[in-house]
Amino acid sequence: MRSNQMALDYSQSPFQPPAQFVKALARSLASLNSYPDPSYRLLKERLAKKHGVLPSNISLGNGADELIDLITLAFGNRILIPTPTFGQYELAAKRHNRAYRRINCLLEEKFSLANIKEPSNAASLIWLCNPNNPLGMVIQKKEILDFAANSKALIVVDEAYADFANESVASFTKKQSNLIVLRTFSKGFGLAGLRIGYMIADAGIIAKIEAARQPFNLNSMAAAAVPIALRYENMFAKMREMIENNRDAFIVRLKKIGYRVLPSSTNFVTIKLSNPMEAKNLFSFLEKAGIRVLSPWNEEFSGMPRNMLRISIGTKRQMDSVFKALAKFKKI
Ligand code: PMP
Repeated sequence: MRSNQMALDYSQSPFQPPAQFVKALARSLASLNSYPDPSYRLLKERLAKKHGVLPSNISLGNGADELIDLITLAFGNRILIPTPTFGQYELAAKRHNRAYRRINCLLEEKFSLANIKEPSNAASLIWLCNPNNPLGMVIQKKEILDFAANSKALIVVDEAYADFANESVASFTKKQSNLIVLRTFSKGFGLAGLRIGYMIADAGIIAKIEAARQPFNLNSMAAAAVPIALRYENMFAKMREMIENNRDAFIVRLKKIGYRVLPSSTNFVTIKLSNPMEAKNLFSFLEKAGIRVLSPWNEEFSGMPRNMLRISIGTKRQMDSVFKALAKFKKI
């Protein structure tokens, strides 16, 4: 990346991790001669406590991406992908040669499960992303729980951005045995480089994933980072708050100059242009200004409307520059 480029594409945190976290994690470097504990017992205990479940309800992955692959392999005979959504569900199905179908669930700027009128045994696995990537909005808890209660399929709720929404269906996995919740430290904790994801589900589902994963799928640094990140959780929450403040201020400013912006409970915002051509033009305009955002034709997404663009939230200064570029595009 050129140094004058701004990477607002892959919804990474613009901030370095808290210094205390880095310092504590650095102590683990001295133990790199050893393998990590392949049961990841301590991590599972800490995460189980955080979510009010048991360690036997948790499995960890080399990023949520690895778990998307493992879930696809274990349960993805007939996959249903409600769109617009994160692209890896479809890419994993393709990688592993699994049958999948997309179904559009975007109705008048709202993501609605009412559009899924499947016979109850039509799919073995259904992927829901909540808050939705790329739309940024949340699906209400009740809508998800009713949907899961009425389905025979396994329902994965990918809560990659849930730290920004302060809402989760994780504890409902105890009652609703076809519900799987997927989480990551990449977004709300801004630790994308460590590659730490985990899933919460019924112990029977977890046993199948544990049997399918590699013995050391989290490296020692990632494994050491989990309890440390949880210890300093309030510091990560402060960083999240800064991102949320930058996001909200950015949305207000964009609306003032006439952009249509979707509501966001994530670390990105999605804008809706009048047509696909305008989205293309704006994408190129920003690219020339050194600002990288994500477009609907990127494989990060399945079924994103072609007149939208997704902009990750950076520092105040970065958002000022993006705002200026967006105002210039509108000739304001
Ligand atoms: N799910 C969603 C919805 C995402 O946006 C992402 C990352 N872009 C992931 C999962 C993957 O997360 P990880 O970095 O933990 O692999």
